[in-house]
Amino acid sequence: NLHHEINQKDLRICVAVRKRPLNKRELAKKDNDVITIPNRDHCLVHVPKTKVDLTKYLDNQTFKFDYTFDEKASTELVYHYTAAPLIETIFNGGNATVFAYGQTGSGKTFTMGGDLSSAKTDYSHGIYAQTARDIFHRLSQPQYRSSIEIFVTFYEIYCGKVFDLLNNKKRLRVLEDQKGLVQVCDRKEQQVKSVQDVLNIIQHGMSIRTSGTTAANSNSSRSHAVLQIILKSTVPISSHSNVSSSSSSSSSRYNNHNNPAVPRRLMKEVGKMSLIDLAGSERGKDTASGDRLQRMEGSEINKSLLALKECIRALGRGDGSHVPFRGSTLTKVLRDSFIGDKSKVCMIAMVSPTHSDVENTMNTLRYADRVK
Ligand code: ADP
Ligand code: MG
Repeated sequence: NLHHEINQKDLRICVAVRKRPLNKRELAKKDNDVITIPNRDHCLVHVPKTKVDLTKYLDNQTFKFDYTFDEKASTELVYHYTAAPLIETIFNGGNATVFAYGQTGSGKTFTMGGDLSSAKTDYSHGIYAQTARDIFHRLSQPQYRSSIEIFVTFYEIYCGKVFDLLNNKKRLRVLEDQKGLVQVCDRKEQQVKSVQDVLNIIQHGMSIRTSGTTAANSNSSRSHAVLQIILKSTVPISSHSNVSSSSSSSSSRYNNHNNPAVPRRLMKEVGKMSLIDLAGSERGKDTASGDRLQRMEGSEINKSLLALKECIRALGRGDGSHVPFRGSTLTKVLRDSFIGDKSKVCMIAMVSPTHSDVENTMNTLRYADRVK
């Protein structure tokens, strides 16, 4: 395989591109494949002359990224180079964040969640499942045994509002205190003991995310889905005094205090993996035509994706320069992802191979190109 000989790179910001295969419909329509992945880190777009304004694009455009994956690459391979290196980060007390970016239908949910297209949906290959598997594998090692516990939150951001996918899509408020710490209030944090627990949460969350719409994808493509896997260390209550004052986040809290049989302990957040299935990046039809709601959805998505790019760039500068996280709800709730020496971000830009999608593909590649 093309990618097997590469080593994982140690990157603070990693940008990868994944191309999906042509689907049956595209093959039937004889929609051409205009994307080539000539080697491990390049992506070539054959811009069809008939499709776009030649003054806007060159004939063929080459982009370079940290990793590029062609249509034959498995999600396992994509995971190996993108999210897998970040497991180390969260066990070292950092925040790691993976974004799936791209137009609707480009493979974001396939990459993050797994293959949900057939009747028997398969979550086991998605980045969610593989991340959970690696985390629990690490926890089974002696040095971590019983000192770290895992919690999951899952929510979606639609039109700048946050809805809890673990709690019947309850609307959640986002508050910022005087120190700039951002809190998503009353979000449900569920403890998980196994990979299967995580998969059950995802399955349930994804089902309420997409239900209630006629077009299966239309609702989910307008919202960002945020899954967070949080590592908390358990500290005996007797030693809690200095821990609680040094804790930077409000997530420290007493647990089990209603159950006298369980010793009281303090939970301190030590690392966090955020996995984000972003809203579809395609614009145009929302903002130009479309009804009022579509225009509002479109401009909210636009705003959040622009803010996201600026926040990742600020993290990349690494000089503590201003992170414009207040630009959108998405960047507000992910503020922790863009600050701190230990934070790492990975963006996987998904592209459709087809001629008919080339303008969206060009926009995706240019966006990904400018993240770093
Ligand atoms: P998005 O979430 O970006 O809107 P999806 O992940 O739902 O897109 O993908 C659209 C369709 O393409 C789905 O039917 C999915 O199963 C399929 N698909 C996406 N990526 C791949 C891939 N790499 N290999 C095979 N099928 C894919
Ligand atoms: Mg999707």
